[in-house]
Amino acid sequence: MSSRIAVLECTHYDKDEIKRIILKGFEFIGEPEVKDKSVLLKPNLLMPAEPHYAVTTHPTVVEAVGEILVEFGAKEILVGDSPGNALSNIDNLYRRTGMLSLAEKKGFKLVNFSKEGIVEVENPNGVVPTIPLTRIVKTVDYIVNLPKLKTHNFTLITCAIKNTFGTIPGFNKSKFHSIAPSPKEFSKLLVEIFRAVRPSLNIVDAIEGMEGDGPSGGTPRRFNRILMSYDGVAIDTVGGWMLGYKPYEIYTTKIAGDMGLGVSSLEDIEIFGDKLDKLFGADVKRVSTVYNVLEKISSPILSFLSRRLVKLIRIYPEIDDSKCIKCEICLRSCPKGAITRTNSKMTIDYKKCISCYCCHELCPQRAIKIRKNKLAEMLWLARD
Ligand code: SF4
Ligand code: SF4
Repeated sequence: MSSRIAVLECTHYDKDEIKRIILKGFEFIGEPEVKDKSVLLKPNLLMPAEPHYAVTTHPTVVEAVGEILVEFGAKEILVGDSPGNALSNIDNLYRRTGMLSLAEKKGFKLVNFSKEGIVEVENPNGVVPTIPLTRIVKTVDYIVNLPKLKTHNFTLITCAIKNTFGTIPGFNKSKFHSIAPSPKEFSKLLVEIFRAVRPSLNIVDAIEGMEGDGPSGGTPRRFNRILMSYDGVAIDTVGGWMLGYKPYEIYTTKIAGDMGLGVSSLEDIEIFGDKLDKLFGADVKRVSTVYNVLEKISSPILSFLSRRLVKLIRIYPEIDDSKCIKCEICLRSCPKGAITRTNSKMTIDYKKCISCYCCHELCPQRAIKIRKNKLAEMLWLARD
């Protein structure tokens, strides 16, 4: 099996330029068959944040893709996502991320995933028996996945596979962190969600992504690229490479490849645009976590030791009181109820904390830092 990806240079969020580039990409991967179809565009709208924070898919990319699909004959364009904070005001999310003004301007329909109802999709041999997806993903004819290329503290990267997590509305997202607390288990669950959604097409906003402690607390980083493919696993293989990771280092990419959901070996991906060696993100700042380092220890004895070592490693969230505005988003998003508000101060109970970093991901003030104990620091320094 092989897959095609277009990796196209794009340096500005200019709609006409992005359209020209995407049409060029379709010459290589083939035009999407959307005539008379209802199409859902699924950007990454993790939290209410303006486009310049580089946390969410830029509205100009969403606009360009939507316009092209209308020109290809799409019957209607819907746009939607479910943010990480289940109690987030969806109108505020769509307003701040630029989706509201885009929808008003272009006649696209904004969808509230939580109000569409849930459809339980069978999940054979999965971490959970069924996956509760927003019903809209099963009523539209065509789904276009529009991720943002970013580092991610828990899964190392977020791109095509991780972006489908947003099709789980409401509190089920944090429940899944409890059910699958380790990065490996959680990554398997993410791949199963991706399998249940199976986007038809993936177009990545990698013009400006994020490095460091993403997906929200890192630093915006210019990659100046748009990635396009019908194979979301191949997209993540190349996206991870651009963030400085080999495909086998990313659980979601490896698991999805092993499950036959797409191509996860670079040799089997045909790239239009750049050469692979030019794309490798050797200087991209990695996330602070180190769990994947232990996976490199392969012999049974070392593997046994590494399991013991895991218990001694501490990579934990810490709240900076000087930045915290007591909005309680972290408290409401914590899957283990580990955060409380006492005496006008937010406190983390580390006995309950499973280090899922949801609080870090969703804090609007960037008031939560990821800290490491000495052992974690040593492993982090030795991670390559
Ligand atoms: S740490 Fe962040 S999310 Fe939690 S209450 Fe403070 S500002 Fe809000
Ligand atoms: S305190 Fe933060 S990292 Fe710990 S379980 Fe809660 S959300 Fe996850």
